[in-house]
Amino acid sequence: MKELIERIKTDGRVLGEGVLKVDSFVTHQVDPVLMTQIGERFAECFADSNITKVVTIEASGIAPALYAAQFLGVPMVFARKSKSLTMNEELLTSEVYSFTKQITSTISISRKFLSAEDNVLIIDDFLANGQAAKGLIELCRQAGANVEGIGIVIEKSFQDGRQLLEDMGLKVVSLARIESLSNGEVSFLKEDA
Ligand code: 5GP
Repeated sequence: MKELIERIKTDGRVLGEGVLKVDSFVTHQVDPVLMTQIGERFAECFADSNITKVVTIEASGIAPALYAAQFLGVPMVFARKSKSLTMNEELLTSEVYSFTKQITSTISISRKFLSAEDNVLIIDDFLANGQAAKGLIELCRQAGANVEGIGIVIEKSFQDGRQLLEDMGLKVVSLARIESLSNGEVSFLKEDA
């Protein structure tokens, strides 16, 4: 997506360890104009998929997921992260290892917000090793919901996440695909949308 790639080029910052900082427009301060375009693009890509719900994980997935849900005309539900969560029959839960925080957290969605009738589009801000998406897929499967596809704002294609999700037979749409962050430079692959 041209507007997103241009913005990454001007405002993205490469940190060490293969991390891209986009806190001025995606992950902390959020640009609503760009987010609207992102949501619209995801909705276009999944327009014929009969999506009933958009699912993401707090916090940075919420903005793109909400705009996508608005354009698809369906609800958005986000998984909560909690350290002190105990098993509860009202909750769907799974474990996610965070790439950036390097901790494992238990994520949960209330059972009443996902059901076997749902056809889900999972959205997240970044795809690195695919652990956040895998945790969300697990929550959907616990509910008996179908995962129709995954929408990613920024994919780091030099990590294993996309392969993991495609090996599960899932359609992955990434709006920006980063080939490399070597030497402080961002280089891009051809994006999906
Ligand atoms: P994964 O679970 O695919 O390994 O990592 C995806 C999650 O880690 C995203 O939800 C995102 O919050 C975070 N993440 C991974 N890589 C980056 C990155 O380069 N920059 C930022 N800001 N977040 C990242």
